[in-house]
Amino acid sequence: MTFSSLGLAESLLRAVKEQGYDKPTPIQAQGIPVVLQGKDIMAAAQTGTGKTASFTLPLLHRLSQGRKVGVNQARALVLTPTRELAAQVEASITTYGKYMPLTSMVVYGGVKINPQMMRLRKGTDILVATPGRLLDLYSKNAVKFDHLEVLVLDEADRMLDMGFIHDIRKIIALLPKKRQTLLFSATFSAKIRTLAEGLLQKPVMIEVSPRNTAAKTVKQAVFEVDKSQKSALLSHIVRNNDWQQVLVFMRTKHGANRLVKRLDKDGLRAAAIHGNKTQNARTRALADFKSGKVRVLVATDIAARGIDIIDLPHVVNFELPNISEDYIHRIGRTGRAGSEGEAISLVSADEVELLQDIENLIGQTLVREQEVGFVPSHNVPLTKFNPNAKPNKVNKPKKPKKSKQVYNNSEQGNKKRPQRNNDSRKKKSAGGDSTEKKEPISRKPRRALRPKGVGAKPKR
Ligand code: AMP
Repeated sequence: MTFSSLGLAESLLRAVKEQGYDKPTPIQAQGIPVVLQGKDIMAAAQTGTGKTASFTLPLLHRLSQGRKVGVNQARALVLTPTRELAAQVEASITTYGKYMPLTSMVVYGGVKINPQMMRLRKGTDILVATPGRLLDLYSKNAVKFDHLEVLVLDEADRMLDMGFIHDIRKIIALLPKKRQTLLFSATFSAKIRTLAEGLLQKPVMIEVSPRNTAAKTVKQAVFEVDKSQKSALLSHIVRNNDWQQVLVFMRTKHGANRLVKRLDKDGLRAAAIHGNKTQNARTRALADFKSGKVRVLVATDIAARGIDIIDLPHVVNFELPNISEDYIHRIGRTGRAGSEGEAISLVSADEVELLQDIENLIGQTLVREQEVGFVPSHNVPLTKFNPNAKPNKVNKPKKPKKSKQVYNNSEQGNKKRPQRNNDSRKKKSAGGDSTEKKEPISRKPRRALRPKGVGAKPKR
């Protein structure tokens, strides 16, 4: 399958070629012809599958054949859950549409509304928007949808998770009934199906990767560690492996801020990206991370949604997510569109249930590792993958135990522990200081995470 066999305009093929794409990804191969035919689609595709181009390319093609846009009108509307995703979708539209005489614009909250109102006066062929700001603009008569031809809901599942359902319904009520609608979602949950019912007309269903399967190109591993040691272990792993670009996921904004301070103290340039940060701060953090100025970007799930950094090599789950499916979204930040990536999770004893849920969801038991000097004193029990288990989609947040943070700053533990069989989980006293007293429990299969030649060699 080639891009030229999909029926796209020459000007689009040229832009695609410039991006260096050899062939369409599965979602593009399946989705583009259907969208070109003007049909509605309901597509289950995670980020990283090439889904943005799968709707952007045929959208540009179709709009290039229609009429000119009117004052304050939009001919196509793309709704996204977050500002970052909105900006990235619009950037893709600009990239792929650079040889087409079409206009596009992005609007989101957190920045001044007036410049957006001014720019909308002329109308825009494609408007990419987050729901709240779009409704604000509509209420000020800055945007009209009389000539709207296509509606795209990107990452619809996340929009529902973020509580945008009422805004989405309000927006849909403003749009012409006769239109093409494209709905993209990581999964086809019951909520998504309900939303789709009233929204799509005889949609073509497309599901590119088996449901809830983590990207195959991502190497995954769990590091067992005590909660109080997580920050120290993270610094240690980043420094020892000479990781230059790491995206770290935290559950809370405060946790993210705290971790940034800690990493900075450890001499690792870090920045946080979350909902309490201004749009400018978020944009700057992302730009610094992309340029290499910032080595560790610490993000909450919502803020990280839609961050697209090509070839992001490392993702760290500092804490496991409460919603198992977020694990898939998180690790989807790496190993994108065929490139290799690595995702590690720092897991403490109290997170074992979350780990079990994740393993049930992804259908595999994750490889476990321990780092000398960070061997947990609270044992992380073994999990047992149950293929028939129904993972809790929304786990109750676990209350963190109040424990004094004691950091192990000494670098005595920079070597991997020797392998031992899973069954022989004896604990030996290794002597030395308290952090070295416990014999690690190693499990099979086990593998070195370090790139060859970097970091410490396994202890023999
Ligand atoms: P998305 O799933 O839309 O977030 O895209 C993930 C990444 O894949 C982006 O960085 C795109 O630039 C890249 N990409 C999209 N289509 C292709 C393709 N056909 N071949 C290689 N990379 C692609």
